[in-house]
Amino acid sequence: MRVVDLRSDTVTRPTPAMRKAMAEAEVGDDVFGEDPTTNSLQERVAKMCGKEAALFVPTGSMGNLVSLRALTVPGDEVICHDGAHFFHYEVSSLAAVAGVQTRPIAGNRGVLDPEGIVAAIRPPTYTFPRTRVISLENTHNLAGGAIYPIDDMRAARKVADEYGLSVHLDGARIFNASVATSVPVAEYAAVADTMTFCFSKGLGCPVGSMVVGSSELIEKAHRFRKMHGGGMRQVGVLTAACHVALDTMIERLADDHENAKRLAEGIAGIREGAVETDDVETNMVLVTTQPLGYDPKGFAEALAERGVKFLPYQAGTVRMVTHHDISASDIEYALEQISLSVS
Ligand SMILES: *Cc1c(COP(=O)(O)O)cnc(C)c1O
Repeated sequence: MRVVDLRSDTVTRPTPAMRKAMAEAEVGDDVFGEDPTTNSLQERVAKMCGKEAALFVPTGSMGNLVSLRALTVPGDEVICHDGAHFFHYEVSSLAAVAGVQTRPIAGNRGVLDPEGIVAAIRPPTYTFPRTRVISLENTHNLAGGAIYPIDDMRAARKVADEYGLSVHLDGARIFNASVATSVPVAEYAAVADTMTFCFSKGLGCPVGSMVVGSSELIEKAHRFRKMHGGGMRQVGVLTAACHVALDTMIERLADDHENAKRLAEGIAGIREGAVETDDVETNMVLVTTQPLGYDPKGFAEALAERGVKFLPYQAGTVRMVTHHDISASDIEYALEQISLSVS
């Protein structure tokens, strides 16, 4: 049976060019700082993001954790959107490991209202936790790949500057935002003290994320990475794939966005109200299943039987994600199968 796997852009497999680069990578012991492929990747990414330094980490989750640890001390508080990835999907690592409290606030499609941020900042009374960081997410995962507009990010930065706070940017999919808006990644990064992004999602690498920031913050993050067991040895076998991703996998994200649009329009054509096509800004489609005659779990199960895989999501929706391993013809196939499943 043909399988169209729209569960996540993390299911992408390394390209032949990546596998070749991995096999041939020049390596050394990265705990000694001697892995040339990793050193050159970190330098390349720092430059690309307009920051002093960069650090390769195994996952986006570790990237968020070491970044936020570097910006806080135990007892501090981090303001974030109530749909933030680390608030829901990172096993409460900020609380459990960093000793830091999360302060989730509401916001339309992942965007925080500056007044809402100000209202959440703690007064300096000694009984309160100390507000330290405003954390932003771009693109916003739970909001279905919504782009956090650069002007709104700058508005949050302005609040941070007024109140002496840091800004962290969870940019797991910042390249999707950049390709969709033509805003360079460095401009997004300029808003933040620390930014993380994933190589293992739309960029197609098997493993890896990056943290960028000032030399001082990256040095702290480096120590926390080691503390959390993230010191790696001949890691050039992984970072070689990341070099290939920077060479070959960024521009093509536009294809994923186009496929997502086509998928959204197709589903909207099957049943009105199932998809808000205007909300599809990058590589994700949130589908409301009720107009299709299913609950999210039932819809996911019915389509899985036809080889079309995706995940039940929040509030009566399922999430479909396009990526490198999904072709335009896969989208047509998925639409056919969805059409056949809806009576
Ligand atoms: C995937 C993701 C992460 C975490 O990345 P992992 O590599 O899965 O740990 C963090 N933030 C966002 C927004 C993500 O989508």
